[in-house]
Amino acid sequence: MMLIDTHCHLYVDEFEKDRQQVMERAVAQGVERFYLPAIDSTVLNDILQMEKDFPGKCFAMMGLHPCSVKDNYAAELLLVEQQLSARRFAALGETGLDFYWDKTFIPQQYDAFKRQIMWAKEYGIPVVIHSRQSTQECIDLIKELYDERLTGIFHCFGGSLEEARQISELGFYMGIGGVVTYKNSGLAAVIEQLPLDNIVLETDAPYLTPAPFRGKRNESAYLSFVAQKIADIKKMRIEEVADLTTSNADKVFKFSS
Ligand SMILES: [Zn+2]
Ligand SMILES: [Zn+2]
Repeated sequence: MMLIDTHCHLYVDEFEKDRQQVMERAVAQGVERFYLPAIDSTVLNDILQMEKDFPGKCFAMMGLHPCSVKDNYAAELLLVEQQLSARRFAALGETGLDFYWDKTFIPQQYDAFKRQIMWAKEYGIPVVIHSRQSTQECIDLIKELYDERLTGIFHCFGGSLEEARQISELGFYMGIGGVVTYKNSGLAAVIEQLPLDNIVLETDAPYLTPAPFRGKRNESAYLSFVAQKIADIKKMRIEEVADLTTSNADKVFKFSS
């Protein structure tokens, strides 16, 4: 069984002491590739270091997270642009809109998101979207800027069935993680109604730990609990969920081994 963690922050300090073991535990559970979303300039070196330390397993993204869009966001975007022109990244991300934490910089978040969508098109790489309490707004912006070069993932998808259908119609994917195991999330009911054609798996480690480990640090080995939960909801075998979501991840990241 092969799984792909399409979104994990394994480069952060929470993994400082046992990063090697975290990787080994994940590989033992069948997780073969790890996509590392950028946040801002402070994490760039750590992401690139992980990619060097785990070649063919860890893949760097480049982008500016909406929660890092502050007064200095123009300088941050300049760095993103420089990096994109210097080498190839697996994706543009994470970018998007976050209406949950801080509403001060929403116009700037829009500006940063739009510019990053343009770069994703220009460089022919998928865009990884953070859409906390802003799923429909992110969908609307993708529709507005859509052309056939554009694809990507609504990571940590938590929207409605109607929003899921719009995302699928755009040829985009939804990243499903630990939230699907939370009893009151409502996500299981959406997944039940949704074909797996546009679903990929993610942990968002160290955040959003699935049951039965909710509250502890998340790590990529726990991706199997997410896959098992989806298998239970869809009354499928976990191997089937693994095959489908892995092939979706290959498509969106245009991965060829
Ligand atoms: Zn995010
Ligand atoms: Zn993230």
